[in-house]
This record gives sequence, structure tokens and C-alpha cells, in this order.
Amino acid sequence: MPPPLGGHGARGFMSEEEKASLPKVTPALLKRVFSCLTPYWKQLILTLLCIILSSVFILLPSILTGKIIDEGLIGRNLSKLIFYLALSFAVTLGANLIQVAESYINTWIAQHITFDMRNTMFTHLQKMSQRFFTSNNQGDIITRMTGDISGVEQVVTSTFSSILSNSITLVVALVAMFRKNWILALLGIIIVPAFTLPTRRAGKTRWSITREAQECTDEINGILNETMSVSGQLLVKLFCREDHEYGKYRDVNGRLIRLHIRESMAGRWFRVVLSLFTNIGPMLLYLVGGILMMRYDSSLTVGDITVLVALLGKTYGPVNSLLNIQVEWMRSMALFTRIFEYFDMPVEIENIPGALVPKKATGSVKFTHVDFSYEPDRQILKDVNFTLESGHSVAIVGPSGSGKSTIINLIPRLYDVTGGSVTFDGVDVRHLDLAFLRRNVGVVTQDSYLFNGTIRENLLYARPDATEQDLLDACGKANILDFILAQPDGLDTMVGNRGLKLSGGEKQRVSIARVLLKDPALLIFDEATSALDSISESKIQEAIDPLIESRTSILIAHRLSTILAADEILVVKEGQIVERGQHRDLVKAGGVYTELYETQFSRALENEDTEQETGQEK
Ligand code: ATP
Repeated sequence: MPPPLGGHGARGFMSEEEKASLPKVTPALLKRVFSCLTPYWKQLILTLLCIILSSVFILLPSILTGKIIDEGLIGRNLSKLIFYLALSFAVTLGANLIQVAESYINTWIAQHITFDMRNTMFTHLQKMSQRFFTSNNQGDIITRMTGDISGVEQVVTSTFSSILSNSITLVVALVAMFRKNWILALLGIIIVPAFTLPTRRAGKTRWSITREAQECTDEINGILNETMSVSGQLLVKLFCREDHEYGKYRDVNGRLIRLHIRESMAGRWFRVVLSLFTNIGPMLLYLVGGILMMRYDSSLTVGDITVLVALLGKTYGPVNSLLNIQVEWMRSMALFTRIFEYFDMPVEIENIPGALVPKKATGSVKFTHVDFSYEPDRQILKDVNFTLESGHSVAIVGPSGSGKSTIINLIPRLYDVTGGSVTFDGVDVRHLDLAFLRRNVGVVTQDSYLFNGTIRENLLYARPDATEQDLLDACGKANILDFILAQPDGLDTMVGNRGLKLSGGEKQRVSIARVLLKDPALLIFDEATSALDSISESKIQEAIDPLIESRTSILIAHRLSTILAADEILVVKEGQIVERGQHRDLVKAGGVYTELYETQFSRALENEDTEQETGQEK
């Protein structure tokens, strides 16, 4: 269903929904919008000059028509006729050349403004915390980055210059008309609104169809986004929903073509109405002009009437555009408001003034009475205390959802604590330089993310200046070198969308190599919960063992062998550390750890043993 439309007037083109969400155009907003233009004031003055010149030039041929008719044709003077025709031609050519220059400068300004805005938005968004990215819809972020900013470009190239050029053309045309004959000029002023009303109706229909078509396109994009993604297709295939998805797609597509047909027909009627009224206007002027000329006013010439008719023709466009400009203006302001909303979002996690940049990091970590919540009314971590000395390692274990990943998120300041403190090398992480902190904390996440590119590109992400030998060494240590060398393209093997051409285990080993290249003082390893086969598991284990031995590390562990490699075990339940110590003591304590051991670790151990035995038999 098309959105309901409002009443008459310029706002009649907007839906109720749009009207309700109209931005408040305050002086502060206008000042801010214009502040985006100020760096380009020189170019703006140039455009202004071009607009004034071309608006006047474009009317001159119409005014010269009078002279062509009266002095050239009726006066039977060939040289005057040729002179005015040549002048008309030169002026028209000049006006067009000026318009070319104007559109170049306009586009240049618009592109530079959007370039500035996109860059400001990108750098600002990069500073936003994880909270922003987890709670905001990705589509919305992308729309603001692309659609909204492109809309602003449209504002600069069309709205601003349209207001200016149309106003100037209209004023010049009206002045010229009144100078020729005030009665006919007045008649013209009455005709113009009569013409705009029906065309506005046609425009209104078109607008509502366009909006509906836009909604359809959004829906199609949504379907494509979901079904054509790697995970979406997997779901479709495994649940045999191909027909259902195709049906959905075909329905919307069908709706869209019907709308496009209606839209093009509405456009057709629009043109009929337009040509009807543009023809009636001149007819009326000829009639009244003729009566005036023949019966009352002997000074009125055929040329004068022709000029008035020509000028009248030139006013239709500007009047119509100016009547609609309010809609465009409000829509532009709405776009600016949406963009400024993002610009104004406070950066939650940033460097404090004078943040510390120590010379060297050892990787020690201390949690003191740490409380944390993602959302105000749900506390996730409660009074977490632990110390990790430099060169040591801790394993964090606990049931799913107990808060293990949350604990490690607080160290590189992906989030800030809501109570207590986290220190790195004895300094509160909030007082450390963020770049220093994140350079010295390396994280291998559960679901390792690889960019779509080659293995080499993914490795170089950690250290762009690494040599070939560095890359090979890191891969060797991460136990992935044999796999890479067995590929025809070696390090230049493409990893596919999100690294999906590699297996879970291979991906994790590539990301271990990536962290090795970064060589952080503190290593955090979030072990994958997904069951890898024992060979992959042991390869990963071989990769991480030497890492843990030589550096400070935190392991979120699901496998007994990983847990046993750590110096201390922290058992987390419902956001609290409920037990801590060594495996042999904890397993006997009869608490959460014993339960985890009995239900998870020992079973994993059994599986491992069985698989190894089977492997040996083979
Ligand atoms: P698993 O072993 O399954 O990975 P975990 O122990 O690492 O679990 P966390 O990921 O730390 O658990 O999650 C702890 C709790 O915090 C969960 O209840 C989860 O729903 C909630 N949580 C995690 N991330 C967010 C987030 N970005 N916003 C809101 N709540 C979150």
C-alpha cells in the first residue's frame, strides 16, 4: 500500500510518516549545514556568479524575439534580422557554456563535501566501541555512510542551485514582462498557478509510486542480502527452502514491475497535462494581447506579445520547482540531521589526555573488583579479581555464557569496566595509550575472522613490514606451514569470503600465525568450542604450547590439555570467579570444576584417546 499522502501545498508530496519525522530546522542546524560549505566559499561565489549570468542569459533570446519580429521581420530589415539572430545565438551559446562551468563547479563542491563527510564519518565510526557495532543494525550504518551522504550531494548540486537559479530566472522574467505590458504580465501571473496545480497532482501520484517502488527495491535487496550470503545459502539449501525463497523474490519482483509500469504511465499523463497547459497559456496571451493591440493599445506590437509568450514559457519551470522546493529542502535537512546524529555520538572509548605510552610491555594483568554490564539492567561480571604475573598463564573455564569472553574483552578495552579496575603492566588500562595497549595484547578469537584475500595479505595485516622469512617462520610455529606449502599458490592462496575456503582448524592456525607476527606481550587465546577432529586439535595444541611457554597468556579453555598447560585455573560461573587453583586440587573439590571435568573435559579426553588409537590402528 502506498503511504498516505498529506493535504495540499508544498508538503502535500510528503507521507504522514515523513511529516512526523521531519527534522526541526533550527538556526543551529542551518549554521552547521552551512559550515560544511564554508571551506569552499571561493568556489561557491563562482557558482553564484555562473547562476546569475546563465539565468539572465537564458532569458535574453526570448526578449530578443520581439526585436527580431518587430525590427527585423515586420520592419523588413535584413541586417537587423541577422544581427539579432546572431546575438540570440551567441547569448544562447554563452548561457549553455556558463551552465557547463556551473555544473562542473557544483559537482566539484558537492563531491568534495561528501568526500569530507564520508571520511569524517569513517574515522568517527572507527572510534566507536564494540557496543555500538553490536547494538546497531549494520544496514543502517551502511545506509548512512552511502545513501544519506549521497543524498547530501544531491542537495548541494540540485537544491541549493535550484533555489538560486529559479528565483533569479523568475524575477528577471517577471520584471521583463511587466516592462513590456503590465496587463499581459498580470494575466501571465494568474495563468502560472493554474498550470502548476494539475501538474502538482500528477507529481504527487508519481511520488507515491516512487516511494512504493523504493520500498520494493529495499525488500528485494533484503532478500538478496540474506539468501545470497554464504551462511544464508547454506540455511536455504539445508532446509530445502529454495522454492519458498524464489516465491518471495518473484512476488516482490512482480510488484516492482507493476509499479514501474504505473510510474511510467503517471509520467505520461504528467506530460499531457504539461503540454496542455503550456499551450493554453500562450493562447490566452495571444487572445488578450490581440484584443489589446487591435482595440485599445496601439503601441503594443506583435513582437511584444511574442516576447511575453516566450517569457511566460520560461516561468513555468521555476515556479513549479520553487513550489516543490520546500519538500526537497525538508528532506535535505532530514538527511543532514541523520548524518549529524552519527557525528555527535560520543566516542565511548578513547585516549585520555596525556595517556601513558610505556617503553616496553611485559603483559601482566590485574583485575580488581571488576563489575561489568553490557546493558544497564543486567550485570554480567560481578567482583572479578585475579592477577596474572608476567611470563605466567591462566586458563579461564566455565559453562557457556558465564562471562569468559567478556572478561578478556575488558583487557584491550573493547569495553570499559563499570566498576573496579583492570590494569596492564600495573597501569589502569584507561590511562594507557589505546594504540600501545592494543599493540601489546594479541587475541586469537574463537571464530577467527579472515578478510577475503590471500593468506599473505591476512598475515601482513598484523605486521605490514614482515619479510617473507618472518611469514614462513610464523606459519611454521603456528603449525600451518605444511598446509600452505601444499597449496599451488602457497602464501598467495585465496582464503575466500570470511576465510570460508579454509577449515575451522586451518583458519584458527592462520590467525595464530597472524598473532605471532604481531608478537604481543600478552596473548589471549579463545579456544574454539566447536569440535575439531583430534588431528586438527593436536596441531593447534602444538601451535599454542610454545607460545604459552614463552609469554604471558590467558586461555579460554575447553580442552583438558590446554587447561593443564596453564599455571592457574580460574573457574567462572554467572560472572563470578567461583573457584581457582590447580587441576589436581580443583578436580577433587567437588564444585563447578569437578562437574565440568566430568561432563566435558574427561569426555573430550576419552574421544581424543579413542581417535588417536584409531589413527594408530590405521
Ligand atoms: P561461551 O563459552 O559460550 O563463548 P562466554 O562464557 O564467553 O560463553 P560471554 O560471551 O562472555 O560468555 O557472555 C556472557 C553473557 O553476556 C551472556 O549471557 C551473553 O548473552 C551476554 N552478552 C555477550 N555479549 C553481549 C553484548 N554485546 N551485549 C549484550 N549482552 C552480551
